Amino acid sequence: MTKIAEVLQAVNNICSEKIQEKWDNSGLQWGDVNEPCTGATFSLDVTLEVIDEAIENGCNLIVAHHPLIFSPLKHISKSGNEVERLAYYCIQKGIAVYAAHTNWDKVKEGVSWVMANRIGLENTKILCPESGTLCNVKVLGKSADLQSIRNAWFDAGLAQIGEYSNCSFTMEGWGTFCPSEKASPTLGSANRTHFEREGALEICIPKAKATVAVQIAKEKSSYETLAYSVIPLSNDNDEIGFGCIGELKESMGLEDFLTLCKEQYGCKAIRYNPGKEINAIKKVAVCGGSAVDFVGSAIAQKADAYITADVKYHQFTMADKALTLVDVGHYESEIWAMEYLSALISEKFHNFAVRLTTINTNSVRHF
Ligand SMILES: [Zn+2]
Repeated sequence: MTKIAEVLQAVNNICSEKIQEKWDNSGLQWGDVNEPCTGATFSLDVTLEVIDEAIENGCNLIVAHHPLIFSPLKHISKSGNEVERLAYYCIQKGIAVYAAHTNWDKVKEGVSWVMANRIGLENTKILCPESGTLCNVKVLGKSADLQSIRNAWFDAGLAQIGEYSNCSFTMEGWGTFCPSEKASPTLGSANRTHFEREGALEICIPKAKATVAVQIAKEKSSYETLAYSVIPLSNDNDEIGFGCIGELKESMGLEDFLTLCKEQYGCKAIRYNPGKEINAIKKVAVCGGSAVDFVGSAIAQKADAYITADVKYHQFTMADKALTLVDVGHYESEIWAMEYLSALISEKFHNFAVRLTTINTNSVRHF
């Protein structure tokens, strides 16, 4: 049977926990990942109703967007605060809870990309590419070794830059090393400095993949000890970051645009600041959840509209007559991404049910 750990690995393959924000607590909230997975329920939030529904459906795993644990729990008991009570209940019932939060926000295909797809944006790219998440991995070795390392990296889907795969650089030169008496060198002999025609092979990859790249290189190298370096880069990473910006197929007037948002995100009502008097909206930026802070990036990239949630009264003025600022609601901006994530995971496993909760966990009501 498939273990819960394997399901969580599949989620990590889509949005690695390693790219979550520092303040975030994505990952396992509680539970035994070595248990066989009897079913997985996907939900935006974990509530008592969602847990009861998971139990009814025989699911022992809940994958949520919003983490439950943010500050350390003092104790886990039936009479504690809400999180402590839910933790107690889940552990008692054998339910593991996992959160994919800012890591699911920041990948292509993630929360904002699902938002963008719903309103049909094209030519999409990340609104706020993150810097400091890339690194340069360089290995030194014989040409034949480098060739097999390069091929294995390519097979593993490493070395991708934008729309270009298999991006690497190789340089030839002379390598030197002097084995000790305890070494078992493939080439050379103890206490003699050996000169060998070698090369340096390098790739630029996300830091989160560096360990895998080095592991592959160690396996493919014929040398006893691999000479390598992993150097952090400050380049922007166009593959990771908050928000998404793209263009509507046809430009549309404000009323049509708001109607499209209402229909596609399932909003009862929309709050917005028209910002500027424009007849046509074409370029649109979106970011799921509370992300009004990125309105500046949307303005800088000349978006006609920016769609997000949780915009406060004074923050609406940040539209600054430059664009139309639209608040579609937190739940409405993000629930679709959980539907999509559950569909992606469902495709990978056929021996247990993967389902989206039918519980509406949105506590906000409109009158
Ligand atoms: Zn959220």
